[in-house]
Amino acid sequence: MSEEANPFESLQSQIDDAAAYLDVGDDVIERLKHPERVLETNLTVELDDGSLGRFKAFRSQFNGDRGPYKGGIRYHPNVTRDEVKALSGWMTYKTAIVDIPLGGGKGGIIVDPSQYSEAELERITRAFAAELTPMIGVDKDIPAPDVNTGQREMNWIKDTYETIEDTTEPGVITGKALDSGGSEGRVEATGRSTVIAAREAFDYLGRDIADATVAVQGYGNAGWISAKLVEELGATVVAVSDSSGAVYNEAGLDARDVKAFKNETGSVSGYADADEELTNDELLTLDVDLLIPAALENAIDAELAADVKADVISEAANGPITPGGDEVLAGKDVVVIPDILANAGGVTVSYFEWVQNRQRFYWTEEKVNAELEAIIGDAFDALTGAYEEHDLENFRTAAYVVSIQRVVDAFEEAGTFP
Ligand code: NAD
Repeated sequence: MSEEANPFESLQSQIDDAAAYLDVGDDVIERLKHPERVLETNLTVELDDGSLGRFKAFRSQFNGDRGPYKGGIRYHPNVTRDEVKALSGWMTYKTAIVDIPLGGGKGGIIVDPSQYSEAELERITRAFAAELTPMIGVDKDIPAPDVNTGQREMNWIKDTYETIEDTTEPGVITGKALDSGGSEGRVEATGRSTVIAAREAFDYLGRDIADATVAVQGYGNAGWISAKLVEELGATVVAVSDSSGAVYNEAGLDARDVKAFKNETGSVSGYADADEELTNDELLTLDVDLLIPAALENAIDAELAADVKADVISEAANGPITPGGDEVLAGKDVVVIPDILANAGGVTVSYFEWVQNRQRFYWTEEKVNAELEAIIGDAFDALTGAYEEHDLENFRTAAYVVSIQRVVDAFEEAGTFP
């Protein structure tokens, strides 16, 4: 990976690419390229040995024109202010492309969670939740999980918020465990939309996803669920990876079995039923029909894109392809289903969770999955509609054309205050 793109600059360049096709003033577009506000805070937390730890944390509220800010909280040593700003922008256009009444936000703590005990992580999370409490709320800003956070952290944040505010408000955060007000289908939602969108793209190309070979980069929540669901559609998952490396089997891996192995050993490397171990770059350049990047940003830059052999890429991760990479892939007619649509299942089922929390009335998994299927299908149709209408170079620009217009419409109807 030679080109280390700044994700915030990537976001802004994606907006510029789409703006060229929209009848929207430069001043309005400029407004849509920056967050409305960003909290930067230093958390002081007592560690198990009695010393004090300091952790820098961020929450970016990018745009609230279409509804409360919405987006996950990431724990990672490489979290930066610009990364959080970019992720909050992508959330804005993600909620818009799937047309749910929410805006965009994102948070992160600079921390390597593997270095801390569960008790320390709870104190770190509760310290951040206390800082966030004045700015979040069921109608203000609704966080969710992201990389290295999950139901456990969401439950702690909900409990901290409810204790400070002396209320019961499960809808203040999504991605909770079922017993704490979570939704059926939320854990699988990101992988599910990644696969629904891929299936739609294969249909659009007149191909059947059941005949596809698939490689998946990253075997966490988004990656492993994508592998499992694409396998259920009949496709053959030939390679998967995590930060330890990649495993390959030409005849197909068993997604569930690889997951059980990773649960046991902590990584996919060493999985016995693999023909070969590969590097992550080798996985990304395999000759497969479908590639699912499900790890972190900037996995595919211009140099690596030149070697990509997949026909379709469905972005489970946020920002896995740099703008330079996008250009190279478009030149090779690789169909890229952009993150803001492909992984929008996570935020869409978070929205369903919020709706159920507010109604205090819970849906079945079948209902959740059927509603998700309809929303991703409609979003894909809106995307291909814009792609054909403007004769665009790629699906990403089409997704931004649709979503920016939706944010602009809401902004212009509201006007400016004061
Ligand atoms: P996760 O922490 O569960 O999994 C991340 C996986 O990526 C792990 O298996 C890790 O080992 C692997 N990984 C890290 N660096 C890697 C590398 N260089 N090469 C290969 N693998 C690597 O996180 P997740 O929730 O699955 O999120 C993955 C991506 O999906 C992120 O970009 C996240 O923003 C995006 N996403 C997640 C959700 C969600 O609901 N979980 C929703 C939308 C988008």
